[in-house]
Amino acid sequence: MGTMAGRGPGAAWLTDRGRWRRSNEDAVDADPAREVYVVADGLGGLPGGETASRIAVETLVAALVPLPRDGMLEGRIRAAIGEVDSAIRRTGAADPRLSGMGTTVVLAVGAGTAWVIAHAGDSRAYLLRDGRLRRLTTDHNVAAELVVQGRISEAEAQHHPGRNIVTRTLGANTPSDPDLQRVERLPGDRLLLCTDGLTAVLDDRMIERLLDRMAGPDACCRELVALANDGGGPDNITVLVVDV
Ligand code: MN
Repeated sequence: MGTMAGRGPGAAWLTDRGRWRRSNEDAVDADPAREVYVVADGLGGLPGGETASRIAVETLVAALVPLPRDGMLEGRIRAAIGEVDSAIRRTGAADPRLSGMGTTVVLAVGAGTAWVIAHAGDSRAYLLRDGRLRRLTTDHNVAAELVVQGRISEAEAQHHPGRNIVTRTLGANTPSDPDLQRVERLPGDRLLLCTDGLTAVLDDRMIERLLDRMAGPDACCRELVALANDGGGPDNITVLVVDV
């Protein structure tokens, strides 16, 4: 099965193998009733990538349900990501077939009038408000670091070879150290979490137009995946959309 879909109140998600990969090493899991959403992109080839991303999404959702009190949320998220990092390293060290496996992660938790967003790697979070799309996360890869240093442009980064060198992951042999942020949440907002199988094919303007045009999260997910596949589908594609 290359495709897996799900939905809950105000939310939908879809993961698709794409056109070229023989397996889907992305993973997605959520608890919409408690507003916990997680997307991950496994690295390390089969069976490692698939195992690492699945451990990440399942462990993180389980660790955040029940949700801690608001003041404890960031600490709990950081601790949970640390536990996932250790679990993936431990599992990888115990089984040669899983050696060196790792995964990106991007996670969103609803906390009253805010989203708490955490990420490591090049999976992204975006926020659409009043028809304008804002990218919330900075990719942890070599191309994005060159943009931050002013050495290449954002447009050049889209096709730069450094895009494929992820500098932070859970597991593997990189630091896991996630970025955490708190983002204001307003009624009418639309949140997107996605893997690079989407953003390697669609630029932010295309994503903005599509998210602004579609009626609900389900339609957004189906259209985003269809467009990424129309654009070649070079990688696994995962999208998760939440309407506030
Ligand atoms: Mn990918």
